[in-house]
Amino acid sequence: MIRTRFAPSPTGELHIGGARTALFNFLLARSAGGQGRFVLRIDDTDAERSRREFEFKLMEDLRWLGLDWDEGPDGPGGVSCRQSERLGLYAEWMLRLREAGAVYPCFCSDERLGALRRAGALLGQQPLRRDQAARGEPPRYDGRCRALSSGEAERRIASGEKPCWRFALGSESIVFEDAVRGRQVFPAGTIGDFVLERSDGMPTYLFASAVDDLAMEITHVVRGDEHVPNTARQLAILDRLGCPRPVFAHIPMILSADRQKLSKRTGSTSIREYRERGFLPEGLVAYLATLSWSPGDSVSPFSLESLAGAFSLDRISRSSPLHDESHLLHWQREAMRRRGTARVRQEIAERDPRFEVLGDRLDVLIGDLLDEHPLTGELEQALAFLVERPTGERTEWMPILASALGKLEPWTEEELNGLLRAFMRERGMKGKEFFHPLRLLLTGGERGAALPLVLLALGREEAVSRLAG
Ligand code: GLU
Repeated sequence: MIRTRFAPSPTGELHIGGARTALFNFLLARSAGGQGRFVLRIDDTDAERSRREFEFKLMEDLRWLGLDWDEGPDGPGGVSCRQSERLGLYAEWMLRLREAGAVYPCFCSDERLGALRRAGALLGQQPLRRDQAARGEPPRYDGRCRALSSGEAERRIASGEKPCWRFALGSESIVFEDAVRGRQVFPAGTIGDFVLERSDGMPTYLFASAVDDLAMEITHVVRGDEHVPNTARQLAILDRLGCPRPVFAHIPMILSADRQKLSKRTGSTSIREYRERGFLPEGLVAYLATLSWSPGDSVSPFSLESLAGAFSLDRISRSSPLHDESHLLHWQREAMRRRGTARVRQEIAERDPRFEVLGDRLDVLIGDLLDEHPLTGELEQALAFLVERPTGERTEWMPILASALGKLEPWTEEELNGLLRAFMRERGMKGKEFFHPLRLLLTGGERGAALPLVLLALGREEAVSRLAG
């Protein structure tokens, strides 16, 4: 049995990185067929920053991408998958850790911890490595309260002081075999005793997540590599309790084209934004599947089933992939082509019912414009001239052309092409002299699809009427 989970914190929208993590966990579970389960867990122990609204949005976006779960906060599986509703479980495990002497109360004030942080080094221990600091890791605690006698600790608790509870790390290195990054070693002393329960009684993410992975019998944890240091801590907890370790696979962070962390500054990052811009879910999935993994040529990247059939952790690359919107657009184009012009036409008509009357006359034009306008919204704009007559200047030869068009038989692309060229030649006009004002009057623009296609889409009656005035 393979059990994976995606465990977002509901503190913001689903972004490219989170969606790829969700996808890989989904694919790994589905790669096991009936022997796999994909769990959606909501890591909402940070009550201040967590919002139900974000949770709903996350679920909506995951569903839109086609990543459905077998167990989740909305009911399937029958257990609550929201950490805020599982506090009893964490309390039980806390008790076990206390009984095992694996945790101790810490009374250090925020001021003291702040001072340690500011000093940049913790009382004689090595300062934080730069990469640790950059990852926002908490500085190592100096272990002061570990030395308190249990009598002293009890006395202070009885007198009303509210300690947090820290894990007492052992003196051995923490070592694990990462399915993507290989062997990871955290020598003893590089990690400080970390907090499992805050002074308000709430478990920290580190603790709740370790307990949940165990309780939910998660076999594989696939997550971003910024979590590697958390893994060492979570393994220390599991090891101390003699519990089995899941397999960990840390996938490299997605970077912007200039190799920076993705942010608003470098363009869209949230799935919702892409959705609103008119990207198709299957195009996004196909794109996400290429970030650190490659499905191979024999796989249809637009089918989750087919992707799942090919998915394995050992083919995930160790280097950071770059988020490149031109690649995403490539997959979008392919996805639109696969959907077919008839389906795209229906979507455009759903966005704006005025397009309905044009029926399948739109199809040729859609096929022609798709490469340049692969997003439905853009396509709709590029086609707007069909339902909104532009105001252009009418030259004196246009009514004559209108009457020729009125008589043309058959009304086909080939015949239209022949008539336009013959008309231009007969009047001794140059291409630009003829096509430019014609296009402006019919479409209101200077560029676009070939004019015979424009005429076909407009239909004879409308075309003649626009030219004749
Ligand atoms: N809630 C964590 C996050 O959103 C999940 C980390 C994990 O996968 O354990 O980063």
